[in-house]
Amino acid sequence: MTDLTIALSKGRILKDTLPLLAQAGIEPLEDISKSRKLIFETNQPGVRLLVIRTTDVPVYVQQGAADLGVSGKDVLVENGAFNLYEPLDLNIARCRLAVAGKSPECLQKSRPRVATKYVNIARRWFAEKGQQVDIIKLYGSMELGPLVGLSDIIVDLVDTGNTLRANGLQPLEDIMEISSRLVVNQAAMKTKHAEIGKLVDQLAAAVEAAK
Ligand code: AMP
Repeated sequence: MTDLTIALSKGRILKDTLPLLAQAGIEPLEDISKSRKLIFETNQPGVRLLVIRTTDVPVYVQQGAADLGVSGKDVLVENGAFNLYEPLDLNIARCRLAVAGKSPECLQKSRPRVATKYVNIARRWFAEKGQQVDIIKLYGSMELGPLVGLSDIIVDLVDTGNTLRANGLQPLEDIMEISSRLVVNQAAMKTKHAEIGKLVDQLAAAVEAAK
């Protein structure tokens, strides 16, 4: 069997990805959650898993250090999915990317400050609406921004809305629906066509079965 390297996103995406991979016949030889390793061998000889930050997954796959990867759509849209195929919506880690603030009035300010790690998506969203904003780049805990006067509003992922509520914020506008996608290096899709095609089909069947 040809070697295949699959880059997985740590955290909540990983938790939902492993059952799909298992259905496709790929299981890590040790418990990923109990290990600090970054590379895991699997029950399929030659197939190995990299467990990395979600923002790094497209980079590994674009560069060919991984043949395939699992990445949130938010990361793909924010950073641009160059040199990648995106053959499958895995329908996991579903949530939405939203504008949030303390109240709808926060959006009415003449030039609201927007705290987010999604600077490109936020810039595009407000430009399309014709609204002038100042974007403040953060790397996490965006919800804090409006609470301490760093920003008027935020752009962040919202799932249950509990994090917003716990911080006295509410969703104000939905930007896009998010889920995790299978991404494939374009060169690998050619050179390892049979193996990757088979895996895509197996994962597609697993996604259907999970619906
Ligand atoms: P919730 O409180 O359920 O609305 O979840 C919101 C928090 O979880 C925010 O900090 C988000 O950045 C994070 N979050 C929600 N869904 C996802 C996802 N699919 N992938 C990564 N982070 C997420």
